[in-house]
Amino acid sequence: MTQRTQEFYDTVIIGGGHNGLVCAGYLARAGLSVKVLERRHIVGGAAVTEEFHPGFSNSICSYVVSMLSPKVIADLELHRYGLELIERADGMISITPEGESLVAGAGKERDAQEIGRFSQKDIAAFEKFESDMEEMAAMFRQIAETRPPNMGGGMLELWNAMKLGNHLRKHTAQQHEKLIDIMGGSLGDYLDSRFESDILKGLYAGDGTTGNFVHPYSAGSAMNLLHHEFGNINGKSGKWWHAKGGMGGITQAMLKSAEAHGAKVETNAAVKEMIIDGDPADGSGTVKGVILEDGREIYATRIAANCTAHILFTKLMNVETLPESFGTRIKNFRYRSGTLRMNVALSELPQFTALKNVENATEELTRSIIICPSVKYLEQAYTDARMTGYAQRPFVSMNIPSLIDDSLAPAGKHVASLFCQHFNPELPDGKDWDDLKDEAAQAVIDTVTETAPNFRDAIIGMQVLTPKDLQREFSLTGGDIFHGCMHPDQIFSMRPAARFSDYRTPVKNLYLCGSGTHPGGGVSGIPGRLAAEEIMKDARVKKRKTQAA
Ligand SMILES: Cc1cc2nc3c(=O)[nH]c(=O)nc-3n(C[C@H](O)[C@H](O)[C@H](O)COP(=O)(O)OP(=O)(O)OC[C@H]3O[C@@H](n4cnc5c(N)ncnc54)[C@H](O)[C@@H]3O)c2cc1C
Repeated sequence: MTQRTQEFYDTVIIGGGHNGLVCAGYLARAGLSVKVLERRHIVGGAAVTEEFHPGFSNSICSYVVSMLSPKVIADLELHRYGLELIERADGMISITPEGESLVAGAGKERDAQEIGRFSQKDIAAFEKFESDMEEMAAMFRQIAETRPPNMGGGMLELWNAMKLGNHLRKHTAQQHEKLIDIMGGSLGDYLDSRFESDILKGLYAGDGTTGNFVHPYSAGSAMNLLHHEFGNINGKSGKWWHAKGGMGGITQAMLKSAEAHGAKVETNAAVKEMIIDGDPADGSGTVKGVILEDGREIYATRIAANCTAHILFTKLMNVETLPESFGTRIKNFRYRSGTLRMNVALSELPQFTALKNVENATEELTRSIIICPSVKYLEQAYTDARMTGYAQRPFVSMNIPSLIDDSLAPAGKHVASLFCQHFNPELPDGKDWDDLKDEAAQAVIDTVTETAPNFRDAIIGMQVLTPKDLQREFSLTGGDIFHGCMHPDQIFSMRPAARFSDYRTPVKNLYLCGSGTHPGGGVSGIPGRLAAEEIMKDARVKKRKTQAA
């Protein structure tokens, strides 16, 4: 039986992922009454720290931070509410099964030494690559922090497009050419045109493949490289940091910041259905509230959804009631990052064959450790995943946060995050991820053990998250880590749909505030901030900061 309550808020937010919390934080600071409803037992969505094995905790989904907007950090006073960012060693280290290693992105001198072991020509090429990436990241950063113009949206949107045009006008034709090259080209072609050594190409192809289930020679696949570079924490462009206590350190600070300004946050509170008056198809649909799984009804003037657009429009309401073109777009929006995520508890550090004669081997392990020796390796990984479901030899990015954060594992023991590609969310031949999970995890363990022979025996506990687990546990549609592929046709003014890139939807007073909106996935807080700005405009409240009680 439905329970009736008197709960009413200015804004209800469906989902307490980091973007939902950021949105709540801004709205609460503006004086609006806000309620966040989170389905899980803990807020944070894909940015959480959890104990995955007795005594061992980790950032169980996202694991490093770079894209978190400095504006969000400052506006929501996240440091005041407990956020602590720990600097990691610069760059990445590639480890190959043949026992070779390459460090890149660790500073000019070190890069030259390392890259020169494989190609003298690549030393200068890499310097140029780094400076080009930094230049493009600076161009891209402002675009990422600004709400995109809404296609077909009248004079105001023309004005927004002109502002963007004015930003781009300040750059040279050469800079535009570079930007278009990386936004439209393929990862493989992009790297082939710059470098000659396989190991260097493989390292950056791996980086560009993170959450990107595409063939490395498919058009548009290079863009992911840039998406990972636009971060600028503490003025360090493209650098990745560790959040003290894991990624949950970020979202707990966001939670405290929002609550200190009056936001109410409830966990174990899954929304089952939207309450809508009128007909969305003819533009008269207006959202009034939500019905929870436990039967409660909560009403609000405005509702912002931090869940995926797929969940909002196809699970919490009837997609067929939406305007046809919008509904079709939502149904066809692609969700497939092709990711498998493992957390392992280790009795000892992996001893990589490639590092056996290296003096400061442990220090090298504080970087991202990448197993992706060439672009060809990735082509094979992708083909395997298309044909059989998963890569027999996957791309693996390993991070060992316990080396720089003693809050995660007992003394002398370690935790490692393994981020792995390619694992097809849509399995061929009627296979099920629950049946393939163990063998897929073994493929990852085999791959790492080939490079570090003690790895398998050092594992004392592990958590494996297949694409199906990511969907089931974290409500990530298709297991997509970004709330939808970051392909050229699904970004910017097309995210999630033309005419609706301004965080509004065809239903009046219903907004999207998660990674399915511009600028997309990653722990940036920007979708939450930009959505809050649009909500404040509609609610006619001014942005203001209030002191915590
Ligand atoms: C395995 C993995 C690794 C990643 N690695 C990194 C990384 O290292 N660095 C990085 O920057 N990014 C990384 N990402 C991407 C990044 O974590 C996400 O893009 C980002 O956290 C998404 O944030 P969000 O707030 O938009 O959505 P989410 O975090 O997905 O939050 C949405 C929330 O809505 C809730 N919800 C869904 N449906 C309902 C409902 N019906 N009722 C109530 N609540 C509901 C969910 O439980 C969830 O808490 C990774 C993601 C994954 C999955």
